[in-house]
Amino acid sequence: MHEIIQNKAGSFHNYLSEGCKLCKLGAKMVLFVTGICGRDCFYCPVSEDRKKDVTYANERRVTSDEDVVAEARQMDALGTGITGGEPLLELERVLHYMHLLKSEFGVEHHIHLYTSIAPDKGTLAALADAGLDEIRFHPPQKMWNTLEQTPFADSITTALELGMSAGIEIPSIEGAEGVLPLLDAVGGFLNLNELEFSDTNADAMHLRGYELVNDMSNAVANSRACAQKLAAHASNMHFCSSRYKDAVQLRKRLLRIANKTARAFDGITDDGTIVVGVIESEDHDTVFEVLREMEVPDDMFEINDGTIEIAWWILEDIAEDIKRAGGTLSIIERYPFENGLVVETMSI
Ligand code: SF4
Repeated sequence: MHEIIQNKAGSFHNYLSEGCKLCKLGAKMVLFVTGICGRDCFYCPVSEDRKKDVTYANERRVTSDEDVVAEARQMDALGTGITGGEPLLELERVLHYMHLLKSEFGVEHHIHLYTSIAPDKGTLAALADAGLDEIRFHPPQKMWNTLEQTPFADSITTALELGMSAGIEIPSIEGAEGVLPLLDAVGGFLNLNELEFSDTNADAMHLRGYELVNDMSNAVANSRACAQKLAAHASNMHFCSSRYKDAVQLRKRLLRIANKTARAFDGITDDGTIVVGVIESEDHDTVFEVLREMEVPDDMFEINDGTIEIAWWILEDIAEDIKRAGGTLSIIERYPFENGLVVETMSI
């Protein structure tokens, strides 16, 4: 058994699937194919507004191939994780997007799929033909102890025979160890996710006696301890902490997007947010005159949504002149998307 490797944000592993390696770099796009799902897991984190037949690429609602490709390009994605809901309820859509992504970004664009059903050989062969690299089965909790006698045993064996990397992905709670005998027998990996409270699952979780680890986190007390207990017996396991998802994966994804999309005058923070100066004025012409007088280069400002955006360090230098021309000034920090959420505004 390989040594357990810990990271600072609380995750640990003795094996990392290729999909997880790319996720760690913030380089995986999340393609939420549909919110429809036939299961009713008490811990389901899917939000109410997504529990319908809608498709999202990361946080962007998508309605066309162009939307999906644009989102992948924006973050410079090296791979895609297909999820839901239950993606295989829309098999044709899944295959379509796989073909699209592989043809746009090359066969090396790594694709993994999460599914809570046990697909038959025909479905798995179609997925393998379309280039699926990795499949993560999410069997219902009531099957964990008897997994070898369920259709998941055949599905995971077939997926491995077809050349895919395959494993089980479930929340880290009591009983998760029940899946180990099957994984040992076939050689699949185990991904354990730290169980988290969300708006949609909070009541069901409280009813079952789950509690928050502390006031600062959505993670469930003891979820990490369950994974630690299990780690000693699992050959290919990875525990993904709630903090890791927020602190590392999201931050790295924002940094990838910021580095890819920032304009010459955008400042990029260590968190992947953008800092930019903003001039609001009824009289753009007068402000432009001042900018020209102050010899501000043309590539250091532009009009965006009716306001003038400008390098924050230049705006600080020329603030008094712009104010005399009637402008109202601020420096904002926002997410690096088009019209990204503003997280801080500072008037100057
Ligand atoms: S299988 Fe996944 S999407 Fe479906 S109910 Fe369970 S956790 Fe939610």
